[in-house]
Amino acid sequence: YFIDPGQIDGDAVVLLGEDARHLSTVMRAKAGDEFIACDGSGRECLAEIVNIEGGRVEARVLRARASEAEMSWRVEVAQSLPKGDKLETVIQKGTEAGASAFLPFISKRTVVQYDARKEAKRLDRWRKIAKEAAEQAHRGIVPDIGEVASWKALLARFGAYDRVLLCYEEEGRRGAGLKPELEAFAGRLREDAGAASRPSLLVVVGPEGGFDEDEARQAEAAGAVCVGLGKRILRTETAALVALAAIGYESGE
Ligand code: SAM
Repeated sequence: YFIDPGQIDGDAVVLLGEDARHLSTVMRAKAGDEFIACDGSGRECLAEIVNIEGGRVEARVLRARASEAEMSWRVEVAQSLPKGDKLETVIQKGTEAGASAFLPFISKRTVVQYDARKEAKRLDRWRKIAKEAAEQAHRGIVPDIGEVASWKALLARFGAYDRVLLCYEEEGRRGAGLKPELEAFAGRLREDAGAASRPSLLVVVGPEGGFDEDEARQAEAAGAVCVGLGKRILRTETAALVALAAIGYESGE
């Protein structure tokens, strides 16, 4: 199963680079063998290999259809940059759980140092992890990974979503859970059944030290609602996954 934007052109599929090497060297595929390819925008096809050489695989489309693997709600995850390689875990598992994009950001208590020059390499790695996870999960798209943003820049994006959910453990302790918020969101969608666009949600998760009260209030002023994910404190790399699972359940996936 391969996803690579732009590789499907009419009846022809061409795989290059890593994908081609994987098929020829690891899978030892030959002419006549079949694989599934996705153009990265949700169109998926069964293709038969016509010609295979180390660095290039040419195939023809046997059947095409829209991918059925995408959630009916578009869910993006904004994750305050965690320590070490934890963001890789969030991207890998979050992609399997259906997230459509990941937006790393810096907030007040972000503990890691952020150097834009070094980050360029990490960004490539995050994108590679998203592609591999999308292929393993048979997703119809590869989730986008945003450039690391400032808290202010993240707040400015809130207006682009139907709902922004800021995961805030203080709300969890007070009992303001995600469930009523998601049920209300689903209820509004049912009333607005004719709406053309795919409903969009942004889940915002804080760093190891969490969000402070000011940040929670700023997020609310920018249109977010603060939600709890239960009475237990989750690790920063666990929170988005728990939220994605709950959202997937509520949206009927
Ligand atoms: N100290 C631990 C760590 O190192 O990962 C826990 C960090 S927790 C404060 C990190 C983030 O996860 C929070 O900012 C929040 O976004 C989310 N989170 C964790 N538990 C949560 C809960 N019960 N309800 C809502 N959000 C939660």
